[in-house]
Parts: sequence; C-alpha cells; structure tokens
Amino acid sequence: MESQIKAIHQQLVSKQITCTALVQEKLDLLKQNTHNTVNSLLEESALAAAAKVDAKIAKGEEIGLLEGIPFGIKDVYMVQGTYTTASSDLLKNYKSAYTATAIQKLLDAGAIPLVKENCDSFGHGSSSENTIFGAVKNAVDANLVGGGSSGGSAVNVAKDYTVFSIGGDTGGSIRQPAGYNNIYGLKPTYGRISRYGIMAYASSTDCVGPLAKSIEDIRIVLNVMSGKDGKDQTTYASEAIGEESIATIDGVKTVGYFKNFIESDAIDTTVKADFLAAVEKIKEKGIEVKELDFFKSDTLVSTYYTLAMAETASNLSRLDGTNYGNRIEDKNLKETYAVTRSENFSEETKRRVVGGNQVLSQGFSDAIYLKGLALRDQIAENFEKDFQEVDIILSPVTPAAPPVIGDSLKDPLAMYLSDEYTVGFSLGQLPTLTVPQGTVTGLQITAAKRNEEQVLKFANFLKDTL
Ligand code: GLN
Repeated sequence: MESQIKAIHQQLVSKQITCTALVQEKLDLLKQNTHNTVNSLLEESALAAAAKVDAKIAKGEEIGLLEGIPFGIKDVYMVQGTYTTASSDLLKNYKSAYTATAIQKLLDAGAIPLVKENCDSFGHGSSSENTIFGAVKNAVDANLVGGGSSGGSAVNVAKDYTVFSIGGDTGGSIRQPAGYNNIYGLKPTYGRISRYGIMAYASSTDCVGPLAKSIEDIRIVLNVMSGKDGKDQTTYASEAIGEESIATIDGVKTVGYFKNFIESDAIDTTVKADFLAAVEKIKEKGIEVKELDFFKSDTLVSTYYTLAMAETASNLSRLDGTNYGNRIEDKNLKETYAVTRSENFSEETKRRVVGGNQVLSQGFSDAIYLKGLALRDQIAENFEKDFQEVDIILSPVTPAAPPVIGDSLKDPLAMYLSDEYTVGFSLGQLPTLTVPQGTVTGLQITAAKRNEEQVLKFANFLKDTL
C-alpha cells in the first residue's frame, strides 16, 4: 500500500476531489459503522476546516501535505472543547479544556480530526471491550475483538474510515490492535513525542503514536508529532526522518529474535511456524539472524503489570469527582469519593487501582514495587547488550489470533498474559513497529532507542521480502 496521505494530497491539489466531499464521506462511514469505533464525532469542526481547505485551493493557494487529511484520535487525548471520556462513565460528560501537544502539531499542519475513538477505558485492556461504548469489533472478522486498548483507532484505519489515527501505547496498545487488524502501528521511543495532553495511564511507559496503512504515512505523521516540548520534561529533540533514508536496507546487517518467545507454551503453532518461515526468508536475503536470550514472558508480564498498576493507581487518584467527572454525592466527603469512584470506574480499572495501591503500600512496596523497578533496569540493560550484537529485534506481536468477543472479559489473567511480546519493549522504552506481515497478527520490528529510522528501513525491506 502506497501513501494515502500523498495520494489524497494529489487529488485535492489537482481538484479531482474536494476536501468537503472527502470529509463528508468519511463522516458518513463513521456514522453508519457497526464496529463501535466512535465515541464522539467532530462533525461541525471537521466540515468547517474542510471548507477552509477548499477555499484555499480554489484561490490557487498552496496547501501542506497534511492539510485536509482526515484522521482519528483515541478518546484519551485532550482536544479543546471535545468530549474526552477515556471510554469511562466517570468522564462521560467531560470536555477537554486544552489540546494535547501531539494533536496540536497535527492541527497546525492542517490535518482534520473527525472522531474521538473507542478504546479500553483509561487504556486498561487488550481487547477494547472494557468500554462504556460497546466492544470494538475486529475489522477482518466482526466476531473477534478489535484489540486494545487503541481498538477503535485500528479498526477505523483498517476500514478506511480515517486515513490515519493517533493511538496511545503503554504496553502494546498501538501495536497489538494494529496486528489484530492487519495495519501498521508505531510505538516510538519513549520521549520522542510529547505526552502532554494524553490522559496518563502509566507515565513511565505511555507513548503517543500513529496507526496507518503504509510505512510512508507512519513516517510523515511521526515526523510532524515528534520533538521536544517544554510541557513534557521527558521529551527530546529528534531529526525528521527522510523518505530516502529509509528506502534502502544499508546499515541493517544482523537481526535477532528471542528464542524463549518462540518456544513459549502460549504460542500458537501456526504463529510459530510462520514466524520461523519469515526468519528463513530474511536469511535468504543475506541478513544474519541470531537467536537471543531474554527474560521469561511471565517475568515481563508481571514486571509490567506491577509498575503499570502502581502508576495508574497514582494517576487516577485525582479522579474523585471534585475537579473532574461525574460526582455522586453521599453522606460525607470520604463516602462521596468512594461512591463516585466505585460507581464510575469499570471492574478492570478498579482491579488495577486496588492492585496498584497494594503494590505501593507500606510493607509491600519493597518486596513488590522496588523489585519491579530493579527488574525493569535489568530488562533495559539486556536490551542495550542485545543492540551491541544486532541491529533489529524481530518478534511476533501476539502469541495467537484475536480472541472472540467476550472471552477476555471472562479471564483477565489470560488477557494480561497475551501481552507477553509487547510489554518488554515498553519497559525498555524502545521504538517498535507492528507490520501486517509474517504472522496472522503481524510482526514487531524493534531497534535501539531513538532509532526509528532503522525500524522503518527494516519495515520497507520486509514489505518487499515477505
Ligand atoms: N494491554 C496492556 C494493558 O492493559 C497495554 C495497554 C496499553 O498499552 N494502554 O495494560
């Protein structure tokens, strides 16, 4: 698939289509869709923005590459004046007071947001069933889950309801739904894109990233959103990645994969066979492939969930009905907080808040939380060593095909374990891209920190190789 952004830009400039007609067509598709991808539509503002783009073109003025391109936004991003619900009862009526930096950069480039997209509430989940707006249905087979937590975003892109969407990835929430719906999804290096204005889940691994149907569109959107931001102290300045610099494979000589990922009990036999077949094709192209040792999947999953739950318990403590959200009054202030939170948070969110507070509480924090932090350091060190030996780490995205709607809700532990291939790269803060090739849920390409260029290079190579 070639760049849709470039194709649409060409059509707009050559007056083959109007921006208004394009935006209207996508809004109609979103309205009629039965996959539960929409939390709210931004119809009025989108049509007004489209009219402005059309007026510019009519006057013969130049337009930028992203100008007039319709996109979607996971419903955890602040966009001033829009409902920002995090798919929760608590924030069902909450409207953003300001706009997230990453989204503002896209608005400044002229891209047009159409929709706030359905997702697991507060990013808590791997299936987009933990939402008050109805389970997101998979783009390929509507009986299956859309994946999570950025499920609405992935399905909208896969179904061409949006040209690209902006998801959020704390432990896999861009990469896994991208894999479940056969599209591209990038989790950049932690800090490359500002987190200012994304609702915090686990601040130490939260990342902003794009989902799209081509590598080129991922590159374009990534470049626009990247950069240092005074409002997020963890951001760093990065250079734009050029189209030519990712066209060739030079610089990528060695690829590694984790033996234990492939030998895990959980992996589906077809996923395993397909992954190993992809490895063979890569070898045939003259690239060296090495087996690497890594932490056991259950260690990765428990380290991630220990830290993620601790951080979310802390981040969500501000949501007590005082400053934000649906307040439920009770006999005194303490009861008001308790009732507001217990009535308005989902079962899954409450499980994480309770778990997180336990992990952080006196008497437990040394044994659990501090141990989690130490393990995270060891995981990061392991990656550093690996990247002295290999240029790219390749892995499956998930151990199996997407589950049927309903199954994950019955067994949260099984859902957590299905994140075994994505969470490690989050703890390592590495750039990781899902490509829709290789296995039924795609492949994950990971490089050393700040090396998105290498990731996109290898994605182009795989596109021609597999
Ligand atoms: N599935 C993982 C979780 O529930 C990741 C979610 C995310 O990246 N937001 O924590």
